[in-house]
Amino acid sequence: MKKISILGSTGSIGTQAISIIKNNSQFKILYLSAYSNAELLIKQTKEFEPKSICIVDKTKLHLVKDALSAYNVEILSGTEGVHELASKTDIDLMLNALVGYSGMAPTLLALENGIDVALANKESLVVGGNIIKKTMTSTNTNLFPVDSEHSAIWQCLLGEQKQEVRKLILTGSGGPFRTLDINKFNSITKYDALKHPNWSMGQKITIDSATMMNKGLEVIEAYWLFDISIDKIDIVIHPQSIIHSMVEFIDGSIKAQLGIPSMNIPIHFALHYPERMVNKQSNFNFLDFPKLEFEKPDFEKFKCIELAYSALKLGDSYPIALNVANDLCVAAFLKEQIRFIDIPNYIEETLAQHTPCNIDNIESIFYTINDTKEYIKQKIGN
Ligand code: NDP
Ligand code: MG
Repeated sequence: MKKISILGSTGSIGTQAISIIKNNSQFKILYLSAYSNAELLIKQTKEFEPKSICIVDKTKLHLVKDALSAYNVEILSGTEGVHELASKTDIDLMLNALVGYSGMAPTLLALENGIDVALANKESLVVGGNIIKKTMTSTNTNLFPVDSEHSAIWQCLLGEQKQEVRKLILTGSGGPFRTLDINKFNSITKYDALKHPNWSMGQKITIDSATMMNKGLEVIEAYWLFDISIDKIDIVIHPQSIIHSMVEFIDGSIKAQLGIPSMNIPIHFALHYPERMVNKQSNFNFLDFPKLEFEKPDFEKFKCIELAYSALKLGDSYPIALNVANDLCVAAFLKEQIRFIDIPNYIEETLAQHTPCNIDNIESIFYTINDTKEYIKQKIGN
């Protein structure tokens, strides 16, 4: 039996993971966490009876405690509660389905404690890639990618030699504004941006898909996961989202992983790895998709992709500044405090004024996080 914890169990990835685990005697959930969705966390706790749970929003703590008074469960709260759950050592796997840069510390804590992580929270690697990789080496732990592109590449690389890889090709749908004229970008509302053509996901990643920062973050994620140079990571736009990504080898052969656009398959693979188990959810019929198309990404329209590549090339603390600025700009856009076109502009300005520092410990990461937060707060004006 695999004992697991799910951080962010109430979100899009978290709930899909729960539906895979439900009625599956191979898994036992020991820990769950949510930010403020107390109702769902209570429901999940009653159903799976974990040892401990965490509700980050302390105003909801009483509600959760009252509802679960008859249950033998430890109830934690606050970010410190999530960190406590991430430090548990009596599990086989931690699924990190948190959103944003605050997901980085839990990833690091689990790896430091010798626990493998199924990683949906790509921001962990964008912010802490260097330290996470060092920790994995010293504790002999693994990251199992949940992001569909990285799951695809991981599957294509199984049984292959690293030195025989020519390049990684990340596919992207292009998001809801792929064909929209750039002159219309200044009137994009949050409701337009929240309509993704192929995927149903949490709000933050849906906006990242609309600005295409998601693909930029995924380039950085691939860089750390697969230990490959930046110039060997390409992006191709594939509007149907059937090919989830590809690997080209030195002999010109290309391997691709395909399937319906559903996170069920990559989550299923990461949770069961190293085994492949029967998944009744997925039925693919090629005849339903007679046309698979490919396009070049439009770097002019989607400036965020270039910003991510340049932050990665600049190195040091630049990717942290990029990630934190993006998290805060997306949150401000969702609150209608800034416009869609302000997101790339503010991130560009953040990187231009950023004074880099060497990232060799967790303190230097938090220093850059706080520094960037201050800058963006001043820009947004709150
Ligand atoms: P959601 O917003 O749907 O869920 C996020 C989860 O984390 C929720 O359980 C939420 O709790 C909790 N949470 C939010 N903020 C905090 C915080 N500050 N501290 C602690 N917990 C918090 O996100 P998604 O599931 O869409 O995405 C999760 C991660 O997976 C992201 O990094 C995303 O980029 C990545 N990903 C997602 C995909 C998808 O299809 N959704 C695809 C590929 C990658 P509550 O519900 O109470 O707010
Ligand atoms: Mg993805």
